[in-house]
Amino acid sequence: MSLNQQQECTKPPIPEDGEEFVKCTMCSRKMPPDRAFAKDGNHFCCVAIAATHAQSNASVQAHYGKKKGPLGAIIKTIVILAILASIGYAAYHFRDKIKAGADAAKEKVEENKTAQ
Ligand SMILES: [Zn+2]
Repeated sequence: MSLNQQQECTKPPIPEDGEEFVKCTMCSRKMPPDRAFAKDGNHFCCVAIAATHAQSNASVQAHYGKKKGPLGAIIKTIVILAILASIGYAAYHFRDKIKAGADAAKEKVEENKTAQ
């Protein structure tokens, strides 16, 4: 058997209607649970397919892990900076308003004093 043939799905007997079965994660073939190779919560119709699936999963995870990691960190940093900036702006804005309000109140008091 060549390596290529080994990686093709074997043909386990298809269960009769009503019989218990699991589906191959790679080719969706129905097969009796005792003929399936279980790996990481998946079922496969042959060991080679299970190994291929595990490998492709690992490479996909490695691929997205590398791409997702720094981007996620950048987004997190931007979100934190945006929150800090809005808090800073709000505080600055609020302080100006308080100062303006206090100045206006002071002016009113002064007006009242000179009016009396
Ligand atoms: Zn299969």
